[in-house]
Amino acid sequence: MGLNVIMMGPPGAGKGTQAGRFARERGLLKISTGDILREAIKEKNPTALAAKARMDRGELVDDAMMIAIVADRLTKPDVQPGFVLDGFPRTVAQARALDDLMERLGSGPLIVVDVAVPEPELVKRLAGRRICGECGTNAGSLDARACAKCGGQFVQRADDDRDVVLERLRVYQQSTKPVLEYYRGRPTFRVVNGAQAPERVASELNALIDDAAAAKR
Ligand SMILES: [Zn+2]
Repeated sequence: MGLNVIMMGPPGAGKGTQAGRFARERGLLKISTGDILREAIKEKNPTALAAKARMDRGELVDDAMMIAIVADRLTKPDVQPGFVLDGFPRTVAQARALDDLMERLGSGPLIVVDVAVPEPELVKRLAGRRICGECGTNAGSLDARACAKCGGQFVQRADDDRDVVLERLRVYQQSTKPVLEYYRGRPTFRVVNGAQAPERVASELNALIDDAAAAKR
C-alpha cells in the first residue's frame, strides 16, 4: 500500500512544482494528466488515441475516457510505492471513479492536499510573469533585467493580462470547487498555505502529508 497523494490548487499556486518535488523526494511517481496522455498515445493505447482524435477536432476529452486512461496508468507496477496526482481529478465523477479504483486496488484512502493562495496574490503572480522577447525563456525572478540565455529583453506574456488571469481563476473556482467539497470532510484532507516561499511550502507539505498518512490508519 503506497503513499497516494492528490495535489490540488489554482493556476499560479505552484502546485505542479510542489507535486514534482515531493514525488522526487519520496520516490513516488508524479502523474499529470498531460504526461500520461502523451505516454499512452505513444504506446498506442486505443482510448488515448480516441482522446487525441477528439482533442485534434477541438473537442473535450470526456470523464469516461480520462478515467480509463488514468486507471490504466495507476495499475502499472511502477506505481507500487505511491503516486502524486497533478491535474486529476477535475470533476466529481472523476473523483468518484478514482475512489472506486483505489478500493479495487486495495490502496486505501487518498491523501488530498489543497495548495491555497489568495486571489490577489495569484493575480500578481500570473499577471507578473515575464518571458524573454527573443527566445521565450522565463524571467524567473521579478528583478531579473535581461535574459540569462541570450541577453534579450523581457516582455509580459501575452495571455497573462489581468482579465485573462481573472477569467482563468474564475473557471478554476467553478469547476474545482465541487471536487474540493467532495474531499473536504475526509480525515486525510489537508490545506497548505501556498502564499509562502516555495521552500517553506515544501516543508509544510511534507509534514501535512505525513500527518494525513498517520490519520488514515
Ligand atoms: Zn532570451
